[in-house]
Amino acid sequence: MSAVRTVLGDVPPGELGVCDAHDHLFFGSPRLPGQELRSVAAARAELVAFRAQGGGAVVQWTPYGLGRRAADLPPLSRETGVHVVAATGLHQAVHYDEDALKGLRGRLADVFVAELAEGIGASGVRAGLVKVAGGFHALDAHARWTMTAAAEAHHATGATIAVHLELGTGALDVLDLLCGELGVPPCRVVLGHLNRSPDLVVHRQAADSGCYLAFDGPSHAHHATDWRMPDAVRALADAGFGDRLLLGADTTTAAARSVGGGPGMPYLLRRVRPRLVHAVGEDLVGRILMENPGRAFAVEWS
Ligand SMILES: [Zn+2]
Repeated sequence: MSAVRTVLGDVPPGELGVCDAHDHLFFGSPRLPGQELRSVAAARAELVAFRAQGGGAVVQWTPYGLGRRAADLPPLSRETGVHVVAATGLHQAVHYDEDALKGLRGRLADVFVAELAEGIGASGVRAGLVKVAGGFHALDAHARWTMTAAAEAHHATGATIAVHLELGTGALDVLDLLCGELGVPPCRVVLGHLNRSPDLVVHRQAADSGCYLAFDGPSHAHHATDWRMPDAVRALADAGFGDRLLLGADTTTAAARSVGGGPGMPYLLRRVRPRLVHAVGEDLVGRILMENPGRAFAVEWS
């Protein structure tokens, strides 16, 4: 039986409800000082606001070493009634200090597998996906290292691999590496941030592989491309890839939270959803929010 591995245990994909397929409750990087998501109270308030809009599940893409607060996730999920999925994986090298990365040499896949199968640190909370990152129109040695470990962890556990595409680029290089060289089935790969590079031809080429395509935002940083997201979604839907699409709010800073005065998680349902209904209709938007995430993240765990 395939199941989505949430912080409260494995659940059938049909139980997720309306799912924010790419977001963050906790996140902290030395790259973004002063913008950390680390308040449990703010995370709880954001989940409550998301729930009030009909939200049922959040997939958190925060990887290893970036302030996941894994032990705080089960009580948050229980108190708010929102399913939460945590991640293992590794972000780009710039988000870590050198010693932290050195300590992972030779054992990265083992860390990913342990976090998926046994739990994150001493929390006992198991990760439900592996998050890794590409680079700007290229994959450097760090990206190849982390993706190789992610592929190993996939082969050991079945876990889906979710990929941060730098400014939405490098989709085909990622697929060549993960699926071409490393043998990960495309249906176990989610490409994130495609809205940041609205090349509809590349989106279509990536979709042809059979992977999932995640669109997220909005954000100040990607305002130049975010508004093209509905057209990109419509183009993919028209080409027959409606069942491969995912949506997320991708809240990465405290100011972007709805409880911090920003759009946050509720905006996904309050404004993005009706805007997309305008583009592709109620039925498909319902499936993108309620059916596709379960299919993308539910696996037969081994
Ligand atoms: Zn993200």
